[in-house]
Amino acid sequence: MTNLKCQVPFTGITIDSLGNLVVCCASDRFPIKHISEVDNLSTFFNSEIYEKIRKPFTDGTFLSLENCLHCSRAIKTGSLGFIQTYDNFGFSYELDGVKIQYLEVTTSNICNQACVMCGGKYSSKWIPYEKDAAKYNLNFRTETFRHSTNISKLNTDDVNKILKILPEISVLVIKGGEPFSDKNNMILLEELAKVNTKCKVHIVTNFSIMSERILKTIHKFEDISIIASIDGFGDVYEWIRTTTWERILKNIFRYNEYGGRKIAVSTTMSIFNWWHYREMAEYFQDVPGVNRMTFSCLVEGPAYCSPLYLSPKHVEEGKQDFLTFLQENYSKQENALSDYTGETWQHKNNNFRIHRVENLLAVESVKETLTKKYHSQRKHIIPWLQFCNNFRNVDFDIRDVVPELNDVEKEINDVI
Ligand code: SF4
Repeated sequence: MTNLKCQVPFTGITIDSLGNLVVCCASDRFPIKHISEVDNLSTFFNSEIYEKIRKPFTDGTFLSLENCLHCSRAIKTGSLGFIQTYDNFGFSYELDGVKIQYLEVTTSNICNQACVMCGGKYSSKWIPYEKDAAKYNLNFRTETFRHSTNISKLNTDDVNKILKILPEISVLVIKGGEPFSDKNNMILLEELAKVNTKCKVHIVTNFSIMSERILKTIHKFEDISIIASIDGFGDVYEWIRTTTWERILKNIFRYNEYGGRKIAVSTTMSIFNWWHYREMAEYFQDVPGVNRMTFSCLVEGPAYCSPLYLSPKHVEEGKQDFLTFLQENYSKQENALSDYTGETWQHKNNNFRIHRVENLLAVESVKETLTKKYHSQRKHIIPWLQFCNNFRNVDFDIRDVVPELNDVEKEINDVI
């Protein structure tokens, strides 16, 4: 039993990249139903099925559920789970009946990038590569929950179900795939702009696609956050995400010039950018059009891309290097918590901020607790890295840009 409360099942619903209705993005391995099986989202949210889902959240036992492992682990390690992020929306319970106030939608897995830590479930671009991985004996590939070899996209009926609830929501979060690769997202945004411009809009995008139509539509909302998934710059970015850095930078400038707005650089921590955060902050703090960098996500799986599977020495190296940089150049902000922020540091000479630093500092190597699994997963790091060197749209070896990965390789070979 816990005194902590999670508001999600009482106020929000999430549609994942396969069209499944799930309690939240952090529990997307546990679909409740597929949207095609539900006639009306509001009625479903008030149904007996949902009543049952809410029970452990009412009696305080939810953190022992497998669905909520992400949050229970975050709470234990001192990092920020979705439970805290969500709390900051401050939704009201003083309503007649249970009302969807937060809607998170991923309309498809259509994407134009094949990021090293991703897979077919979230990126259609990965589908042919996933098939190749099996051919090259990388059979461990199918073990990741991100693995899929099918394109999934909401049909018109399903999109209409979402359109119906747009007038009543307070927050719309759009994720992908790449949201701007799928026209359904423009349909949602254009309708929302007609019926509910007061709605807060968060778009999690790789920011590689920009057009006049997109710019015009997103500027109709008073409160919009562009959370751009950018895990580095230059070669490190290009290797991880397979799009040219020049293209991303051009879009950042274009967005800023259009309406004076700025984006958040949202970093997914992997073993490929683990030693790159100091350089990233030094770079982005001077880019017009970016006002913050945030340590949004940690790759927990696939394990062979996760900093959790680096050695304790390397984990500490990455953390210490960044912490020293922060202490020298930034000041920790007290009481800075608001949507998606967490532990916040502000540059000593300007307004650039770095958020959710606790997510970086909480990373610990799993070596001590999971030695057998640790070694078996680490054996996949170099074959996977070589596959990604050779079979995606990149023409260089990441070890030439991140030499620390050669040390990782040596450590692995020493054990074998
Ligand atoms: S506790 Fe975390 S994982 Fe569980 S429903 Fe709430 S936000 Fe989602």
